[in-house]
Amino acid sequence: MAESKVYYMDAHSESTETALSSKMLTVFDAAGLDEMIKPNDIVAIKVHCGEWNNSAYLRPLYARTLADRIKELGGRPFVCDTTTSTYSPWGSRSSEIDILQTAERNGYSSATLGCPFICADGFIGTSDFVVDIPEGYILKEAYVAQAIAAADALIALTHFKGHSMGVIGGALKNLGIGAQSKRGKFNVHMGGHPSYGLGAAGVFHPENFKGKANTPDWEILEDCCPFNLYHINEKDELEWDGDKCANCLGCFGVMGPRGLMDIPPVQFDAVDAAIADACLGVEKAVGPGKVGYINMALDVSPACDCAGHADMPIVPHLGVFASKDAVAIDMACVDKAREAEGIKGSKAELMEAHHVGDKKFEAAAATFHSQSEVTSINTGHEIGLGSRDYELIECEPESPERFRFPYDKRPSRQRFAAKFEKFQPFPYDKFDGKGFNRLDVVDLDKVKHHYEDDSEVINVEQPTSSEN
Ligand code: SF4
Repeated sequence: MAESKVYYMDAHSESTETALSSKMLTVFDAAGLDEMIKPNDIVAIKVHCGEWNNSAYLRPLYARTLADRIKELGGRPFVCDTTTSTYSPWGSRSSEIDILQTAERNGYSSATLGCPFICADGFIGTSDFVVDIPEGYILKEAYVAQAIAAADALIALTHFKGHSMGVIGGALKNLGIGAQSKRGKFNVHMGGHPSYGLGAAGVFHPENFKGKANTPDWEILEDCCPFNLYHINEKDELEWDGDKCANCLGCFGVMGPRGLMDIPPVQFDAVDAAIADACLGVEKAVGPGKVGYINMALDVSPACDCAGHADMPIVPHLGVFASKDAVAIDMACVDKAREAEGIKGSKAELMEAHHVGDKKFEAAAATFHSQSEVTSINTGHEIGLGSRDYELIECEPESPERFRFPYDKRPSRQRFAAKFEKFQPFPYDKFDGKGFNRLDVVDLDKVKHHYEDDSEVINVEQPTSSEN
């Protein structure tokens, strides 16, 4: 496959035109993603709106800026995410009502975005469009969230970071998991698969269940599965109907830590390959030449935004990327992360993978040491979704005029002189025209140094007991 183009700007910012939101628009246009939008097109902007208490997800500013640009091009944007698996009792995006409440708490709403924020796969997550993918490496069909499949164009606006299952959470995963309906996720997660699914490859250890009397919270062992596959029978034994396992991941955090289930690492490898297949399914559902990718490689946390927390980044901000190729853009981000020094004190350093050249996501993000940060990328290359060979094109900043506050561009006197006369904010009539009550001169040098840098120790008089 021919080399793909990836447009890039670094993460330094010291002016209007180098603001990260400005850079996002610069690479968007440079990559030709603006040409995908025709007047009256309904345009989906797929984001990860962040789990409850996550703080590394993309600020809504980026989606807003992009939505405004799409409106400028004549398109009609909406911003969206999809329902998740029912990971745990406190999962905050498992249904439409959950995701809308979480998104709003995280700043994603029509008020902030200037366009609707919707849950793309319906109330429970079963609203989808089925696409055949005969080219798929492992999947032969994908279940694409209906609102995304129905859009005229799609921009995957991705926060590039790590992921415990995908190893990287990039463009491929934003669509290969994030644009699938709930049943699409079960498909990608290998639910019911005869070789790689938990039902087939998981090793159940009922012998480690010590009975209800010795398990005060035994009810969670049955309640963790929304398909009702775990039971404690009359003999006080734990049973699992693994043949029916949908791979919703609901029991992973309950059974694994108690030694009741060994999760097979091969399952995660299979999911990582399936992510690329499912991303291809999304491209086929939306249509050729109608899907564009922006990767914001900022706050590169080791865990995904679907975690209810965010650890410190493992590498510094890597930059802003845009491409028409999901494989190439993720490869470019992985390469930049390998070229970077890991952040001191981060999980990359903890795992001794903070050196230039280290595979930081495999060390700091993956659940199993055997997982690879390029499985999804290589699969996407194999099936013709895109190319892992790319040309990185560095973009120059545009004129700042394009990005300034658009509502009133008059200089200050024209905007405020008459208003200041009416609502004078400086009290010229006080303190001999100086306006405010302040000392004329103070020793500023005295307060400019760290205490330990001073050669002279400052003696603070302590009150005597009689003064207390
Ligand atoms: S047994 Fe399967 S379906 Fe049930 S919670 Fe576990 S992963 Fe989900």
